[in-house]
Amino acid sequence: MTSRTFRLDGPFRIDRLVEFEGPFRSATHLFPPATEAEVRATATARDPRFYDLERDLLVMAFHALLVRTPTHTLIVDTCLGNDKSRPKVPEWNQRSGAFLEDLTALGVRPGDVDYVLCTHLHADHVGWHTRLVDGRWVPTFPRARYLFARREIDHLRARVRQEGPMVHHGIWDDGVQPVLDAGLAVLVEDGVHEVVPGVSLHPAPGHTPGTVMVRLDDGRHVAWLIGDVVHHPIQVERPDWFSRFCDDPTGACASRGRLLELVADTDMRLIPAHFPAPTSVRIRRDASGYRLDTD
Ligand SMILES: [Zn+2]
Repeated sequence: MTSRTFRLDGPFRIDRLVEFEGPFRSATHLFPPATEAEVRATATARDPRFYDLERDLLVMAFHALLVRTPTHTLIVDTCLGNDKSRPKVPEWNQRSGAFLEDLTALGVRPGDVDYVLCTHLHADHVGWHTRLVDGRWVPTFPRARYLFARREIDHLRARVRQEGPMVHHGIWDDGVQPVLDAGLAVLVEDGVHEVVPGVSLHPAPGHTPGTVMVRLDDGRHVAWLIGDVVHHPIQVERPDWFSRFCDDPTGACASRGRLLELVADTDMRLIPAHFPAPTSVRIRRDASGYRLDTD
């Protein structure tokens, strides 16, 4: 499986570094409230970009987002990573993808990255936080400041202490602790936080307690890089469908509802962590709720 890159519509320059894209899991597996009949009744299920109707599978992507402002280079969510032991998810396990080569092809070396932002601490969002060098996990981006929501770090640390190191596939040991040890982590308190001009973090708790969204604003255009606040286009039609990976389903639905309300019928773009191409979308209101505008 080779990685690929796509430039996205939005403010600044945004490139998507894709580690996986294709039919992945069934909607009823990912979204416990959904029934097969309800899934098939959605408009999303009839859109082959987002749904494989023959096999009843959601089309999903796993990608990192490279953002270049006039002054800074940032990576938002670092996807799956190479060499990580993820035996419960074959598509994530012991990967050897071309992520770093793709980054170089976009004109960015790891040492050029100023900030690594993380919407939340799940294994498909911190993969390239580290890489394996001589048997040790080291930060992939040696000059970067790695921002985490303090609430998110505290929550995962507490769970690992209680339940052991394999919480969320072992990401504390192979993706978080090495960054803390290297002194590159910056913990961000609750509330809106400006990272650099035009880039800010905004809390959206529910999927995890410390989930944040990244707002990009170049003065003309706005985009929200929202991680898993909306996992899949089908949740634009059915914002009431929480995922099986949400810590607080009610909170997750509330954060999704607030976001859709905020951006509906505006020019603001949503760039979620798992939307397949075209990935950068707008939201419109219609008679039954919301729908995607992919133009
Ligand atoms: Zn995710």
